[in-house]
Amino acid sequence: MMIFNCEIETSILDAAYAEAEADYPAESCGLILGCETQKRGTCFVPLRNHAGADSLHSFRVNELEYMNVVLKGRSTGLRPLAFFHSHPDASPCLSKRDLASHTIDGQLLFPGQIHVVASVVQGKRQSVQAYYYSPESQGIPGKENRLLSQFIEVSS
Ligand SMILES: [Zn+2]
Repeated sequence: MMIFNCEIETSILDAAYAEAEADYPAESCGLILGCETQKRGTCFVPLRNHAGADSLHSFRVNELEYMNVVLKGRSTGLRPLAFFHSHPDASPCLSKRDLASHTIDGQLLFPGQIHVVASVVQGKRQSVQAYYYSPESQGIPGKENRLLSQFIEVSS
């Protein structure tokens, strides 16, 4: 399936959705890795949600775990292409907390990366949206600068 400029295999998205359903009612998160030049996502690696008691409404990634996934991917020629997380019993819109976690001091942490958000209602996946911050983006999407990012509905 084409998500912005990346072709992500349906089986990879299915693996991410399955993880989100298994983690319900907590938020689920993980990385979709693949070939950077071909922009083809071929691998999903779930990450543990370290948000503790807040995990029903948010997620927190352990930086060391994240880096280990990235480095292990690199050793096999894979790069992170998309970040996946779920919203239990909520819409797949990026939350204020999501937006805040994508920047430090107004600078994007992962310019060019796609974010896939899956809504999981009563343990079953529902709608999915994907967001993309172009490398030229200077800020986060909002009413005033919506054009800096795009989102699409992903058929699930
Ligand atoms: Zn979120």
